[in-house]
Amino acid sequence: MRILLVEDDDSIAEPVTSRLVREGFDVIRERSGIAALDATVPDLVLLDLGLPDIDGQEVCRQLREKSAVPIIVVSARADEVDRVLLLELGADDYLVKPFGARELIARIRAVSRRSGDRTDPGAQTRVGDLFVDRRARKVTRAGDEIALTPKEFDVLAYLAEDPGTVCSRDRILHDVWETQWWGPTKTLDVHVASLRRKLGDPGRIETVRGVGFRLGPQQ
Ligand code: CA
Repeated sequence: MRILLVEDDDSIAEPVTSRLVREGFDVIRERSGIAALDATVPDLVLLDLGLPDIDGQEVCRQLREKSAVPIIVVSARADEVDRVLLLELGADDYLVKPFGARELIARIRAVSRRSGDRTDPGAQTRVGDLFVDRRARKVTRAGDEIALTPKEFDVLAYLAEDPGTVCSRDRILHDVWETQWWGPTKTLDVHVASLRRKLGDPGRIETVRGVGFRLGPQQ
């Protein structure tokens, strides 16, 4: 999967590029709006709004005019992001700097899943004896398939993206439910409790009090 990263700031572009390459993505980086518009259309665009030549919103509009490529807009300031305007311009999602690698990768996966991309190299992950296959939406433990509901699968696949790292409840709710979450966070606890039962190893998903959850390799 080829990602076009349009970012003039090296201090952001370099770590983002190296992380994406480590995840198996091909990254083409451009530093200006004009270069981005001239580039070969990739499988996904990560577009900084503050570019040195053309306004990022205009780049977004023009990219959308010429192709259906998924676009994730990146902005330095939350108040710069007018979600309605971005959607009108054809962006698929947005991120506010500073953002974590996990959040970025979750957005890329969510957007490419919605756009039907099947070339995501991170489609399969192994964590200890667990094997998570995002393409087939199947989980096996020591070779035995575990029957999960769609949301249970999404929560486990999300935690498996960065094993050993704590995922906050807010981020899980935002990224897995893919919407601003207004309901009770009890829903997440219900899914985690059920996952623990089905995995047959309650300590596998650890609760980090006041923060969120972490997937461990195995007890
Ligand atoms: Ca910039």
